[in-house]
Amino acid sequence: MSPLSRSETILVRTIEGLFERQRRVWRQLADGVQGLAAAETRPITIDWFQVFVRHIPHRMRSTMAAVDPASIARRACFLCASNMPGEGEGIAFGKDFTIYCNPLPVVEHHLTIVHREHCPQRIQGRFTNMLDLAAALPGYFIVYNGPECGASAPDHLHFQAGSRKLFPIERDTVGMTGPLVPDYRRNVLLFRGCDRSALVQRMERAVEKLALITNQAAEPLVNIAVFHQQGAWVVYLFPRSKHRPEAFHSGDLMVSPASIDLCGIFVVPRRQDFEKLTGETIGAIFDEITISTDQFCQLVARLERAD
Ligand SMILES: [Zn+2]
Repeated sequence: MSPLSRSETILVRTIEGLFERQRRVWRQLADGVQGLAAAETRPITIDWFQVFVRHIPHRMRSTMAAVDPASIARRACFLCASNMPGEGEGIAFGKDFTIYCNPLPVVEHHLTIVHREHCPQRIQGRFTNMLDLAAALPGYFIVYNGPECGASAPDHLHFQAGSRKLFPIERDTVGMTGPLVPDYRRNVLLFRGCDRSALVQRMERAVEKLALITNQAAEPLVNIAVFHQQGAWVVYLFPRSKHRPEAFHSGDLMVSPASIDLCGIFVVPRRQDFEKLTGETIGAIFDEITISTDQFCQLVARLERAD
């Protein structure tokens, strides 16, 4: 076993220990873990793939969270260490990040990885952190939700991670080389690679070209998921067209899809939505919230050009 794989195993074990300790002393986390254990999950087949609809009542507040600047300015930042509940214990990751148990889990071993400083949610310059986290956490996925794409703290840089015990997109894309995933209802770029700096460059370039195509001066709307297996990273980059679907604004469905939903675990806090959601509706939501196929083709064409 190489020294690197030993340190990976140590971190995974340390996190397992953290969950054990935190469940005993942090009531909100204990309730969240129990809520997840009781959550109902229903597979729905859409075309050739499956999406798992998961009913989790404790996600109500996150799904409905107001993330406009005025609302954010009014509340105390819940990711700042000074505002964390006293019971919350973290594990350092590198010099900049702290790993915490997520008290409102959607998947097993749901983690929040929080920057030590209160700095905005921006992916620029952070791709390396994401890849390093993925390499350090075998068996996990790492996600980044853009500030207008499902991050409930757009003012404080953070990632999330969770067990890949259920991670549908991994199975859906086995054997695919990318960058396209054909007929997948959501437009997504798939990158694979063993060369960390080459992969970071590809991700940076994709975000930069996406900003140009979608006329976003700052960061384009994006969700990203990464995992690492057998020495290689797998990256899924979802270029978004909007934060929430029309069905959310009309009150028809209480859903606010982010990275985990786009990876195939579709979270619904309301029972009625869990019961009525169909594959067609989910497919239409994926199509609505990711960029148009026309824009996506432009993006892929620009990425294939040398400039
Ligand atoms: Zn903060």
